Amino acid sequence: MTKNDKLEGEKTISRLGRIDDHGKSVWVWFEDDQVYRLEGNPYNGGGRGPHMGTLATVTLLPPVCPTKIICVGRNYVAHAAEHGAEVPAEPLLFLKPPSSVIGPGMNIVLPTLSQRVEHEAELALVIGKRCRNVAPEEAWDYVLGITCGNDVTARDLQYKDGQWTRGKSFDTFCPIGPWVVTGLRSADVADLGVVCRVNGEVRQTGRTSQMVFSPTTLMAYAARVMTLEPGDVFLTGTPAGVGPLTPGDEVEVEIEGIGILRNPVL
Ligand code: ZN
Repeated sequence: MTKNDKLEGEKTISRLGRIDDHGKSVWVWFEDDQVYRLEGNPYNGGGRGPHMGTLATVTLLPPVCPTKIICVGRNYVAHAAEHGAEVPAEPLLFLKPPSSVIGPGMNIVLPTLSQRVEHEAELALVIGKRCRNVAPEEAWDYVLGITCGNDVTARDLQYKDGQWTRGKSFDTFCPIGPWVVTGLRSADVADLGVVCRVNGEVRQTGRTSQMVFSPTTLMAYAARVMTLEPGDVFLTGTPAGVGPLTPGDEVEVEIEGIGILRNPVL
């Protein structure tokens, strides 16, 4: 799925993102390890433009600039259980601020205010079209694509405060990337592996088929509350195995067939 294969229904699978080009952020199109400028608007079916370099020579930025990051708590049964928590009857939504977003390779900075910061590997949806009050059956039409996300969490502050804003919102607590895979059908993401590794050691494994609420159910639920804008990111919950990050770690989130998001920890 990482090549630009043609699928039934004529959607082309491609990998889009953003790089730094002499201080400016530009949209790009990835093909194997080659990077091309994206012609046109990614939200309107852009195409491959001039060659910009290779993955080894460009600086990747967060693939999108969300106006908000919508998240869901306890969306995998095994993760709720490791916290001794019930699976909620309805999706338990919360937000992370856009200021927490970083791209692949950028540092997760552990704040002095917390003694326990944890990784949460998650499938991330990227919204492609403005959407409000949409039915679950139609929600996928508003998805641009899929990327990897890490819902970095100051666990001690999350519990101490009784609500989650501080624990979820530090700068650098929302790594996303490395790119957005577009042109997928909802069925293509229904059973993908989600893995988190720290210093190469596997810490979290799960499959998107183990979600309590499906991505489109979550989108429809949130879109009854707030307008979803192009570029907004939806983090769909984390499987079991969350654990602490320490300075010097390298944390990886891999979504099967989508990519690997790697971030050093400072
Ligand atoms: Zn999470």
